[in-house]
Amino acid sequence: MATTDVLNVTAWDGTRPPEPDLIDDCVHCGFCLPTCPTYVLWGEEMDSPRGRIVLMRHGHDEGSELSGEMVDHFDNCLGCMACVTACPSGVQYDKLITDTRAQIERRHPRTPAKGALRRAIFELFPHPGRLRATVPALVLGQKLGLPGLVRRVEGVPALRTFTAALGIAPPVRLRDAFRRLPETREARGESRGRVAFLQGCVQRVYFGDVNDATVRVLAAEGFDVDAPAAPRCCGALMGHTGEDGPARELARETIGRFEDYETVVVNAAGCGSAMKEYGHLLRDDPEWAERAEAFSGRVKDVTELLAGQSERTVRHPLPLRVAYHDACHLAHAQGVRSEPRELLRAIPGLELVEPDGWEICCGSAGIYNLVKPEPAAELGRRKAEALIATGAEAIAAANPGCTLQISAHLERLGHPLPVYHPLELVHLSLTGQGVPA
Ligand code: SF4
Ligand code: SF4
Repeated sequence: MATTDVLNVTAWDGTRPPEPDLIDDCVHCGFCLPTCPTYVLWGEEMDSPRGRIVLMRHGHDEGSELSGEMVDHFDNCLGCMACVTACPSGVQYDKLITDTRAQIERRHPRTPAKGALRRAIFELFPHPGRLRATVPALVLGQKLGLPGLVRRVEGVPALRTFTAALGIAPPVRLRDAFRRLPETREARGESRGRVAFLQGCVQRVYFGDVNDATVRVLAAEGFDVDAPAAPRCCGALMGHTGEDGPARELARETIGRFEDYETVVVNAAGCGSAMKEYGHLLRDDPEWAERAEAFSGRVKDVTELLAGQSERTVRHPLPLRVAYHDACHLAHAQGVRSEPRELLRAIPGLELVEPDGWEICCGSAGIYNLVKPEPAAELGRRKAEALIATGAEAIAAANPGCTLQISAHLERLGHPLPVYHPLELVHLSLTGQGVPA
């Protein structure tokens, strides 16, 4: 079926619509359904991967329109890519939903309230300088007991998004948020090579200690690390939510900055998956398509890089029962599951345990817990319960969004536990300083 934006006779315009060939890969077997969080929550066919793929196909039919109902089903999707892992037919739902979301943002007018919320999110989170400006208010809020106040007013519909945002606000420390990572750190001992490290946007401000630990471990294991301040953001938040103009711009900037490196290391699952998708994002850009494809092949999650290397540094015991949480954009979007576990199991004394329902998203999903707070909160509660049931003393999670979501829901259930990035645990083991009291 031809798609055209001249006559506007289908739901999709001619700019990168969800590709019919990829849609046709789905044989409607339904194996993906039990792993889809929205299907698990509501049992609605159109809120399953299979149902959404049917809607994508329908969008190519002559005379089809992008109805509000269709948009709702796509908006409900968390983009967790559990369906990609589950699908025996190799359906590339990741590419399909990315292209579908971009069509929606281009062709479907948002209500003023939803549009304003999205703009506010994209004007804040991908800008580390602006995010840093929020930190003093967050610190003050923690001191004044804001989380308790938020819980008292969170049933008020008009305050829904506001309370959702404050409910997951990180307990950030001023000194961490304003600490700058050295732009270069030399390898300890003989160098295994020079790598680039992406600082990220949210990660560098709210989780500066994670970046610091990552770079220190890389250097201790023999890598020279360049961690430039630019780019400010890789474009993941925008790319995963249909804002493909800014996402493409940030992708070009990121490629341009890191193109000379053989290996580009990232420690946030959402960023890593976005950078590995640049080839698809820029596939029709004559100047950048080839460069983007080559670049994506050089991106590595830090656990992928380290798990394949022989250890150079002694691991000191870290007696701790740790539940590993699979961040969707690491496990499903990048297929990285064994490497972080391998690194954690190499720590003497650390006992690694697995929660039930590892494949189901925690509800963070980029900006999902801000724009869809109710289902996100239900998924967050379920994930926290599964993690608590392991009897763990701490959680390991490799994505800032997961860390915020899980911490908030553990706290709500009255069972707060520390949530570490796996590289923080490796770093604690290298230094031998033990877990902070
Ligand atoms: S990406 Fe996640 S939420 Fe969306 S259809 Fe696939 S499994 Fe369901
Ligand atoms: S996406 Fe894959 S698992 Fe799901 S219905 Fe289609 S073919 Fe089956």
